[in-house]
Amino acid sequence: MFGSLKIGKIFGIDLYLHGTFWLLPLFVIFAGLGRPPAEIATDLLFVFTIFGCVALHEVGHALAAAYYGIRTRDITLYPIGGVAALERMPEKPRHEIVVALAGPAVNVAIAGGLFVGLVAGQMLPAMPDFESPDALSEFVFRVFAANVILCLFNLLPAFPMDGGRVLRAVLAIWMPRLRATEIAVAVGTFVALGFLLAGLYFGILGLMIVALVVWLLGQAELGAMRLRQAHAEYERRVREWFHLPPEPPEQVDTLVGLPPDDPAVLAARRFTGLVWDEERRVWVQWVNGVPVRDIPA
Ligand SMILES: [Zn+2]
Repeated sequence: MFGSLKIGKIFGIDLYLHGTFWLLPLFVIFAGLGRPPAEIATDLLFVFTIFGCVALHEVGHALAAAYYGIRTRDITLYPIGGVAALERMPEKPRHEIVVALAGPAVNVAIAGGLFVGLVAGQMLPAMPDFESPDALSEFVFRVFAANVILCLFNLLPAFPMDGGRVLRAVLAIWMPRLRATEIAVAVGTFVALGFLLAGLYFGILGLMIVALVVWLLGQAELGAMRLRQAHAEYERRVREWFHLPPEPPEQVDTLVGLPPDDPAVLAARRFTGLVWDEERRVWVQWVNGVPVRDIPA
């Protein structure tokens, strides 16, 4: 019932509108009933403009991920925000921080550009040559303000929102990733509770839904990570039981491009045999990925 509609490609990535997205313009139309049609049309244009900015925010994540060799399957827009489906999350904390900050950075860039435009066009109320707010300057100002809010909101430490991912990555520098995720999810749950209370107090349904989604996604990601950890532990025990060699190190991909007789490659392959060392003009005997002795030619 709530399938996604493909509306095009953005930077080569398929862009989808989730079925529930249409609740948002419908809500704008219903909330505006009785007001002049021109105002409702402006509000609709505003909603679609903001979701254009949300799509660009997701493109920011996708491009940063692409820089680290991670592909993005698609970008989907929901009524409460967008999701860039990365094929995997960057494992290194520094990479995760860059990918998480790339989204809000796009909103900073958009807001900065609009701010320059507003200043250049004397369109800010506090400016000396400001005359009266016309429809265009008011609209541009709203889009500017919305981008500032989008940026700040996403940077709140509510895992799995961007700020929460930064928090997890920073924690993961000092502690195991699972422990860092547990703490980030706990902080995120606390912030989500704040969203819920603020939503109830100010009567903002969207904020209550965001609170619920943040909580559910945080629990889901934590659950998935615990499962992966348990699976890895199970595999390690099976290997130990059957005296199988341990899994090769995970960073094997960093070896791509190195010559096949590079010591790092030989170590990762647990190479056994002889390797010619041109510089010292000796054969080196390797056993199970370790050089053990020189054999003079
Ligand atoms: Zn984001």
